[in-house]
Amino acid sequence: MNKFDELHKLKERMEADDSLPLKKGAGKLVFGSGNTEASILCIGEGPGRTEDQTGLPFVGQAGKLLEKFLLLAGLERKKVFITNIVHHRPPENRDPEPSEISAYGKYLDKIIEIIEPKVIITLGRFSMAKFLPNVYISAVHGKRYEVFLGGRSVVVVPMYHPAASLRNGSVLESEKLDFINLKNILDEIFNSKNDTVKVEQNSLI
Ligand code: URA
Repeated sequence: MNKFDELHKLKERMEADDSLPLKKGAGKLVFGSGNTEASILCIGEGPGRTEDQTGLPFVGQAGKLLEKFLLLAGLERKKVFITNIVHHRPPENRDPEPSEISAYGKYLDKIIEIIEPKVIITLGRFSMAKFLPNVYISAVHGKRYEVFLGGRSVVVVPMYHPAASLRNGSVLESEKLDFINLKNILDEIFNSKNDTVKVEQNSLI
């Protein structure tokens, strides 16, 4: 089975899973979207109102800003796959709780296993903490970390959440610089190995 089909099957399993703690009271499942053959995976926090209504991640204001940030790194949105740490909207957009993060985590782990990204860009402190526990985002944002996942080495680059940049001008300036520098990090990873960021036009989930 190819990655597109595997992800579709996983999405169906998730939609049918009534044990997911935020399902009651949420609208649509926001599984993730983008290029299923991507080498780069972005992981946000959780769906907001627009995402809850559409079933797509990062389609509200924070999503528009994320698309601009990605362009600073030379990435079109359709080149990456985007998902979240929890896939149903928390009530009143509150922070996800540890038990919720762990309940959705088994599906997120499966998404990562299927996509097999070379680079994971975390957006905000909750997705950062999955890979880089016990650090402060103010100390590590924009830097490159090597993490071992399922026996593979993956580069994790923690970024501020775009919603934080919408609220705070100095975070915005800092996040712009981080995405400009992300271009250099990606050049090192993909060009040094004479590799390219894979894109297949017909593989958008
Ligand atoms: N913020 C997130 O973290 N994820 C989304 O999908 C939208 C906004």
